[in-house]
Amino acid sequence: MKKYAMPFIMLSVFEAIAVTLWLTKNNLFYLFNFSYIGISVSLGVFLFIRKYKHARRIVQLLVGLYMLVYLGLICNENMQIEGFWYYLFTGVFEAATIHYAVAKIFGPLIFGRGWCGYACWTAMVLDFLPYKVPKHPRRKLGWIRYITFAASLIFVAALFLAHVGNIERIMFWAFVIGNILYYFTGIILAFVFRDNRAFCKYICPITVFLKPMSYFSLIRVKCDKEKCISCGKCKRVCPMNVDVTDHSRKRENGTECILCMECVRNCPKDAL
Ligand code: SF4
Ligand code: SF4
Ligand code: SF4
Repeated sequence: MKKYAMPFIMLSVFEAIAVTLWLTKNNLFYLFNFSYIGISVSLGVFLFIRKYKHARRIVQLLVGLYMLVYLGLICNENMQIEGFWYYLFTGVFEAATIHYAVAKIFGPLIFGRGWCGYACWTAMVLDFLPYKVPKHPRRKLGWIRYITFAASLIFVAALFLAHVGNIERIMFWAFVIGNILYYFTGIILAFVFRDNRAFCKYICPITVFLKPMSYFSLIRVKCDKEKCISCGKCKRVCPMNVDVTDHSRKRENGTECILCMECVRNCPKDAL
């Protein structure tokens, strides 16, 4: 039973967040929201322990579709980065600000870029494309993320500075149009670079938060040098080009790890 401790720990963490936010914000929605996400994540961890090969994809679909369709399209909450800036400027700790704090800013100190591997609705679609393992070495195009990051900030700041009315409605359409653009760009890049995760590597503005925070992540894949036979299989199957055999935090592309566990599943010596 010991090996099933992790799903219970994950569920407990999410339930603690759910109950805390429910009581402090006096809003039952938070109880439902974080319980649902906690159950989905712990179900995925449970299935992973049971060696079910689609465990990660199941969590990705459960959480990603919930956030995209229910929170985004039905509840009209912009959970993209523009929504985060919007709530930040209005000084309200709600919806996107809570989401960013938990999943993308402080959460990565514990679970790294688990968001990117198990919940992101952009990657949920990109992971269906044929280039699960990049066919070419990584390009030096990561600087583009800072442009998209600045553009999102300038866009929302301009709305406030110009005193535009009904910003909430604009935020909804920014969410719809932003997602269409993300999917369109992500799919084109995947085929051009023959790499499903090219959008994540070069364009995604959220990585400006995710990369530095995940550097300190508590949960990370480590390599047991005693067992490793340097076969290189882990690097060949990694969608993010991480040198997972290097134990240090400074390892090549270390802040790109999305905890997908493909390296762990494929290591012939159980060294990871
Ligand atoms: S890098 Fe961006 S698009 Fe890719 S999975 Fe992470 S949040 Fe989603
Ligand atoms: S797959 Fe395992 S044995 Fe091979 S290099 Fe990676 S860690 Fe070492
Ligand atoms: S294959 Fe391993 S190193 Fe690469 S992203 Fe997945 S968990 Fe991280």
